[in-house]
Amino acid sequence: MNIGFIGLGNMGAPMAKNLAAAGHAVTGFDVAAPAPEGVQTGESAAAAAAGQEVVITMLPDGKILRAVAGEVLPAMQKGAVLLDCSTVDVESTRAVAEQAARAGVLAVDAPVSGGVGGAEAGTLTFMAGGPAEAFEKVKPLFGVMGRKAVHCGDAGAGQAAKICNNMILGVTMIATCEAFALADRLGLDRQKMHDVVSTSSGYSWVMNAYTPAPGIGAASPADNDYRPGFAAELMLKDLRLAQQAAQAVDADTPMGHSAMELYESFVEQEGGKGMDFSAMLPRFEKRRRGG
Ligand code: NAD
Repeated sequence: MNIGFIGLGNMGAPMAKNLAAAGHAVTGFDVAAPAPEGVQTGESAAAAAAGQEVVITMLPDGKILRAVAGEVLPAMQKGAVLLDCSTVDVESTRAVAEQAARAGVLAVDAPVSGGVGGAEAGTLTFMAGGPAEAFEKVKPLFGVMGRKAVHCGDAGAGQAAKICNNMILGVTMIATCEAFALADRLGLDRQKMHDVVSTSSGYSWVMNAYTPAPGIGAASPADNDYRPGFAAELMLKDLRLAQQAAQAVDADTPMGHSAMELYESFVEQEGGKGMDFSAMLPRFEKRRRGG
């Protein structure tokens, strides 16, 4: 396929590179980053998007997505697909989908999980929203950049799935870390705690596959001085998006709200920036009840 790729950062560059390596003709554009191996450089976002069958965006936030969509949509041919893989607010996604529809372009939102490692290895998971016809068109590209793609519903459904999943993940990480810290104070051995919980009703992906205690359970960033992995500030971004969405639709999400506040103080006041999101465990270890 002829593909435009806007946003060649930590995630976008390896995704674009994998598409080019699979034989697609990829023209990229980024305001700062260079095009990776196999990807041609466009002179502007509009130039990279002109005449392409699919234009992929991988950008930092909804405001930038809206601006880039404003540039590329007029240059795109009718019937082409604008595939946004960024994690952004649901409102921006829906606004861009409406703008695309007016331009005769099909919009798909398909945020990813899997991080930079998944982008490099081509093992990302895509959660997609948009018309079924558009999802089918870009499905082969999901197969190159990732391992799994789920069509979740109409425009915005992909972003909704992503923030719901990551809200559960953030809350579960905090619950697991505070339980380990409580076990420490109760004199319960961490290995024993893991043996019990990982096979009991408290088990989770966090406890079983991403154990936040060093040397216990699954290999994880905890075994590597809490280097990310999935950085705490990226978890904070997703928890903020979840709260923004919850506010917009008047949903009561007290645990998601608490998780956002905890990651906020961890990242902004307690040195958590640049650490894996599981570094909540050493945070709880050091603290006492109430602060
Ligand atoms: P990044 O900051 O490394 O890359 C974003 C790129 O967009 C940068 O290279 C930047 O120069 C470019 N850019 C900004 N404004 C632009 C414009 N107007 N036109 C063209 N390019 C522009 O970020 P990333 O880590 O690659 O993340 C991209 C998206 O993927 C984010 O929405 C993020 O939340 C999401 N995501 C990231 C991860 C991760 O582990 N890094 C995991 C899942 C999802």
